[in-house]
Formats: sequence, structure tokens, C-alpha cells
Amino acid sequence: VGIPSGIEHHAVDRAVGLLDGVDQLALDVGLEKGEFHIGEGRAKLREILPEGPRPVNSRVAPSLQVEVRAVDNQYLHIRKPRSSAPGGVHVPDKDTHISRIFRYLCVKTHPMTEFGFIEHIRTSFATLPDNGFEGIGDDCAVLPAGTDAEGREEVLLFTADLLTEGVHFLRRATPARELGRKALAVNLSDIAAMGGRPVATLLSIALPRDAAGTWAEEFMAGYRELSERYATALVGGDTTRSESGITINVTAIGRAPAAHVKRRSAARPGDVVFAAGELGASGAGLRDILAGRLDTPLAAAHRNPEPQVAEGLWLGAREEVHAMMDLSDGLASDLGHILERSAAGAEIDLERIPIAAGSDLRTAGGGEDYKLLFTAAADAAEELAAAFRARFGRPVYPIGRITAGRELVWMRDGRPEPLDWHGFTHY
Ligand code: ADP
Ligand code: MG
Repeated sequence: VGIPSGIEHHAVDRAVGLLDGVDQLALDVGLEKGEFHIGEGRAKLREILPEGPRPVNSRVAPSLQVEVRAVDNQYLHIRKPRSSAPGGVHVPDKDTHISRIFRYLCVKTHPMTEFGFIEHIRTSFATLPDNGFEGIGDDCAVLPAGTDAEGREEVLLFTADLLTEGVHFLRRATPARELGRKALAVNLSDIAAMGGRPVATLLSIALPRDAAGTWAEEFMAGYRELSERYATALVGGDTTRSESGITINVTAIGRAPAAHVKRRSAARPGDVVFAAGELGASGAGLRDILAGRLDTPLAAAHRNPEPQVAEGLWLGAREEVHAMMDLSDGLASDLGHILERSAAGAEIDLERIPIAAGSDLRTAGGGEDYKLLFTAAADAAEELAAAFRARFGRPVYPIGRITAGRELVWMRDGRPEPLDWHGFTHY
């Protein structure tokens, strides 16, 4: 949960102060004792948790524990509790409660936190009909789509991504043609991350007057180039004038055999965690761009992400591959999504993270590399890696393993090493 400095909410203010330098502590919700008092927030929690958990034995601590991990002054990571709460506590539906607490902390304290906002959307729309869709929370939404010619169950995949001038790109630093490719590439990457084949896109674009001519033509040339490379049709969209910068939204549609779809939620303890390419070129390129060095190879790598479409399809067809997603926000944040949705933990060996030339470990933990991150059954992992190399002429990199705990632990030389990484959030 990203919490910008200067927010007013008492509880979180205090938490941020208290958590400075603290590695981990328990947050007791609805109970006086504990290192961290929610203060006035407690009454509010009672309001939103009217049927909330009550301690069966008030001598034995907490009603509901949420682990709060201090990352730095501005970031709190709130995780679900390890196994069961102590003290024989009756918790009717832990997940619901935690998601409501999470939502409370994110939304009431800072409504514009990216993940908090998504969580708010997810919970408040969860009671509406899903009409057969598997919705928010993975790289794509999934819709069963009958059977293909060979009688296999098929699904359609849907994903959307937004690029905004000033947030995702600087116009003076980004040739329009490259942006056209990138706008499509980041969406194709999400289709690949599910194990699917991209088939069509819709493009909506808001253009200020000074971008309506040559800029727009160049942008479309880049968009067409990548559409041609991946054989995707452009089947709709919207075009409008903008009074404040360029905004581009792409919606991509993919298909896949239902059995090939890889979800974030499928990681199992014991799985090997793989990165399907080197990390950090994009982050190092962004560093160059921000320093005014626009024409370095790394800057070009940042502006020209290549979605791993063939790799995603190939990995989708392998049964031993369990969970998969694409690395868009950064290793810590993205792997965190897999762990959260799989109710698992991981140990990642820092020395095995494949770092692109010109990058370093910190940048490799940054975002926008668009390489696939996946987990695979341990007993098939070596053969999988060899088969991948034979097929693509490049390695996949085993970087750690999934554990039954709920922690993401960074390891160096077999020992845990504290690391204050957090992913890139867009605001
Ligand atoms: P990705 O990086 O793979 O594109 P995100 O982290 O952007 O995924 O989003 C996480 C999940 O939240 C995805 O399932 C996405 O579809 C969903 N999501 C993000 N923003 C919204 C929104 N405004 N409304 C509904 N769903 C959203
Ligand atoms: Mg993604």
C-alpha cells in the first residue's frame, strides 16, 4: 500500500512513524493490546465489521492479525495472517474481513493508492453478476468460449492498459513510432502472461492539437508494425481531442485452450520460480532517459519492450508450469501478486537474478521489463529449462522457490538478506 507522506489519517500516520526502521510487526484489529493501536480507526473498523471477529478468550490476544511489513517511510505491505490466529478465535471468513480491512486502510486513508483503488473496485463490484467472466486480479479476464475444431475447451482473454503522457512516457524522449509499438506490446505481454495467443485489439486515443498530424501517423505506423508482427487485427476503439496531453488505451483480446491458461493463483510450495529473460535493461534505460541520454541502447530497450508472445504460448502448453504473469511493476511487487493469490511465500536468491548488461540488482528489481515470471514443478524444472533453451536458444533463469509460508524472503548465499524493494506504482 503506497502511502504518500503528509496524509492526515491518524492511525496510518502513527503507523508510518512507528514502522520506520521496523521490519515486521503484528497489527491487532479490534483489540486494545498490540504494538500498534488503530486508535480512532478501531471504532470505524467496528462499523465496517459489524459481525467482526470477537476474541473467544479475551486474555489470549488478538481477534484478527494482519502482518504489516515496513518497507520504508512511505510503504506498508499488509499481508494476510500466517495460518490461524492464536487463541481459538472465531473468524467466520478471514479473507472477507481482511479484504475489508485492507480496503479500509487503503481507501479511507488514501483513495488514490493504485492497488488500494483496484481493491476497492474489486470488492465493491464483486456482488454484481460476473456473466461467466473470471474477472479482476489476473493479467487478463477469462471468458469460456466453447470448443475449438479439435474439441478442446477454449477461452477468450481480455486486458486493457493505459499510457499517459508525463506518467508513462515523455513526448520529447519517445519517438511516436516507438510509442505505437509499446502501447501494443504491453498489452500483448499480458495475453502472453496467461499462455494465450493475441488475436485482436481496440485502440482509444486522446490527442492534443499539436499531436494530431505527423505524431499520430507515426504512432499508428508503429502500432501497425507490431500488429503485423503478431498477426493481430485492429477491430475498434475511439478517437478524441485532448486538452492535456496524449492518452492511449489499448484493449487486447486473446484466445487459448482452457487447459493452457496460467493464473497468478496457481503457484505451489516447492515450485521453482523462473524469470524468462534478463531484468533491468528497461530500468537502466529509464535512468538514461531521465538523465537526458536518449540514444543509448538501454534507453532504446526501455522504449521498445518485446512481449514474450511465443514464449508465453509455449509455456502455456507445458503442464509443469503452474503460475505465470508478466513483469511490469517490478520483481518484488509482481511476485507479491503471485504469492498473494496463491496464498504462498517464496525465497528468492539475489545472486541468481539475471541482471541485464548495464543494469544492477536494484534496477533489475524495477519495472517494465515485460519478461515472463513463472513457477514450475520442481521435478520437471530442469527438463523444462533445457527444452526452453532448445526451442528459443535462450535460457530461463531459476531464481528461487515457492514456500508454504507467506513471506517473500530475499536470500544471499543461502541466508536471508533484508531488502527494501518495492514495486513501481503509477501514482
Ligand atoms: P497488469 O500490470 O497485469 O496490467 P494491474 O496491476 O494493472 O495488472 O491490474 C491488476 C488487476 O486489476 C488486473 O486484473 C486488472 O485488469 C485490474 N484492474 C486494474 N485497474 C482496473 C480498473 N480501473 N477497473 C477494473 N479492473 C482494474
Ligand atoms: Mg501483467
